[in-house]
Amino acid sequence: MNVLVINAGSSSLKYQLYFMSEGRVLAKGKVERIGMDTALLTHEPEGKPDVSEVSEILDHTTAIRRVLDLLVHPQHGVLKTAAEIEAVGHRVVHGGESFRASVRVDEDVKREIRRLFDLAPLHNPAALLGINAVEANMPGVPQVVVFDTAFHQTMPPAAYLYPVPMALYRKHKVRRYGFHGTSHHYVSERAAAFLERPLAALKLVTCHIGNGASCAAVLGGRSIDTSMGMTPLEGLMMGTRSGDLDPAIVPYTMGKEELTLSEVSSMLNKHSGLQAVSGLSSDMREIEGAMDAGDSNAALAFEMYAYRLRKYIGAYAAALNGMDALVFTAGVGENSERLRSAVCRELTFLGVELDEVKNGRGYKGERRISAASSRVEVLVIPTNEEWMIARDTYALVR
Ligand code: ADP
Repeated sequence: MNVLVINAGSSSLKYQLYFMSEGRVLAKGKVERIGMDTALLTHEPEGKPDVSEVSEILDHTTAIRRVLDLLVHPQHGVLKTAAEIEAVGHRVVHGGESFRASVRVDEDVKREIRRLFDLAPLHNPAALLGINAVEANMPGVPQVVVFDTAFHQTMPPAAYLYPVPMALYRKHKVRRYGFHGTSHHYVSERAAAFLERPLAALKLVTCHIGNGASCAAVLGGRSIDTSMGMTPLEGLMMGTRSGDLDPAIVPYTMGKEELTLSEVSSMLNKHSGLQAVSGLSSDMREIEGAMDAGDSNAALAFEMYAYRLRKYIGAYAAALNGMDALVFTAGVGENSERLRSAVCRELTFLGVELDEVKNGRGYKGERRISAASSRVEVLVIPTNEEWMIARDTYALVR
């Protein structure tokens, strides 16, 4: 079976086509600047040269049609006809409390995703555009939605509630949901497979550290806590997001700087984190480069980033009452040995001992980076959210 995985944003759309029985990616690519006459489509077919074209693509329906045209194109395609695509899986950011797992799309599911627009005003509308665009181009092809929040729906009330008037939860669903669930789920499963131990017997702290970043406490394969909350702003310091702070800063800053609520929200989401402290960049590679060149603001940003992550790992070891393995994933987690080293250096009280050689450059793929004597296994597991979406889609459609 061939499964097409779609990750739709408001003006972009990423895709991967899987040949499921071999777990092979037949093609992948993305459409950027949807809505403009200079939209850019890049397409990478397996075993053929990459293609990129600039054209007018005014909506998601047209974007999907262009992608399908390329997938069956005589030179650039990998299929004979679009009918060879038997199912489509979509990434949806917010499933609220309605979705604890992936589901097949029907009218009720679409209605529910629409009802959740309030909780994810930027992301869920885009996902629905993607679903409708597939429906318009491929009528009758089964679709599945996979939610970033679903894996964390196993959190207990003590972890997901905020200590605020409970009417806010009852009336407006103000609670913690958590995100990156597909990634935390994937790396948890892979960690158990790597360690050749049953997931049900493991206490894991998984760290998805990319542009956005979150940690999760995973007990026996179930998320019991995670650092992002009602929105992805809570928790760790990130590329451009502040993560945890005193909420009183919001009204104080509004008063002092004469800012509106939406300006403060934009400041905390888009102009904080590594970017704000370094005054340089939200990109960890640039931060590390500047540190090497002696930039003290970059060094401070890095230190804060690592410190805040280390504190969360300690908190989650407490939430789990122990930790068998610590897992790093996503852009920074997979690639920055400096960050992993800075975080693990002072977790020795928990039994974490890094092997600095194995942690170093030159190693790729799933790997153990802890010393043989370490009581806690430290692993790097490259994430693969698209494969999880394809796998759930296949399981629900087969
Ligand atoms: P997203 O959250 O957008 O999916 P990624 O998971 O791709 O992001 O992570 C992007 C981050 O990973 C950027 O901060 C980037 O600098 C960082 N990164 C990628 N490669 C390296 C590297 N070799 N060393 C340090 N950081 C890296």
